Amino acid sequence: MNKINHRHIKAIQSIGKTFNYLTVQKIIGSNKNRNMVVECLCVCGKKKKCTLYSLKIGDTKSCGCKKGKFSHIIIDKVSRRFYTVFNAMRSRVTNKNHKSYKIYGKRGIKLLWNNFESFHNDMYKSYLKHLSLHKNERTTIERIDVNKHYCKENCRWATDTEQGANRTNNRYLTINKQTKVFQTWCNEMNINRHKVTDRIDKLHWTPEEALGLTPRIRKPKKT
Ligand SMILES: [Zn+2]
Repeated sequence: MNKINHRHIKAIQSIGKTFNYLTVQKIIGSNKNRNMVVECLCVCGKKKKCTLYSLKIGDTKSCGCKKGKFSHIIIDKVSRRFYTVFNAMRSRVTNKNHKSYKIYGKRGIKLLWNNFESFHNDMYKSYLKHLSLHKNERTTIERIDVNKHYCKENCRWATDTEQGANRTNNRYLTINKQTKVFQTWCNEMNINRHKVTDRIDKLHWTPEEALGLTPRIRKPKKT
């Protein structure tokens, strides 16, 4: 396929997304009916090729196993959503086709949960608790130290609002003559915004230091 068309772009945007028990991993191309064919990873671990269309309308829900060995823990809407959190996380660190791979997997960030079951054992209770406290908000997984891996000790749940609640929302930073929204800098450097805010506001680091663009230089104390 040489020509990138609208359908192809849509298909690329679907990489990392989960439809029922299948998570899109890569684009194969278009078939004779001009439907985009994608390769997915099923919850059971098997690969499955199908059209993006059949995924979206729910014609294809799994590799054929339905939900395989996780049928006891993927039982309803909430647990399925929890599974998509796991899959999205796994895609960011292992799937080179994922749009965020370069700031996760490529930077050496690993997923220390070997499988969905162990992630479920460690995080499902706290996930439910977070959901019940923040009913209508999207609960996302956040790493406490962004240079460390995805594991129980380094992960916590957050809502979009929690992440965006502080006043850095509309803050701009200019570094090397480039002005960008604060959050954009944080995303690009894969650094938690709270950490950067604290470094700038409380510790009085320069923006470059706070974002990890230059090493922190300790200034002698003024007398
Ligand atoms: Zn399967």
